[in-house]
Amino acid sequence: MSHQPGTLRIAGEIVGWFEYNGTVDIARSQIFPDEAALVAWWRKEQPLPCDCPGEPVELSTETASWDGRACFAHACVVEGRRTWGHDE
Ligand SMILES: [Zn+2]
Repeated sequence: MSHQPGTLRIAGEIVGWFEYNGTVDIARSQIFPDEAALVAWWRKEQPLPCDCPGEPVELSTETASWDGRACFAHACVVEGRRTWGHDE
């Protein structure tokens, strides 16, 4: 598995995009407004997630979807970056 685009959804609507690193099975932290912005930042350095509680979102890739939380003020995935178990 390699990197692939993922989407964040609330009630089925796409509210953001993220880069999924399938090699280590983790969603990268930064949220992008659309796929073009994601592609422009592909594999570049990203900030660490903030400490905000965030709000519930569904993270989806081509092969899986799972629940997490995202902070849209700081544009980052704060929980559910791993498809398995809990964040460290
Ligand atoms: Zn935040």
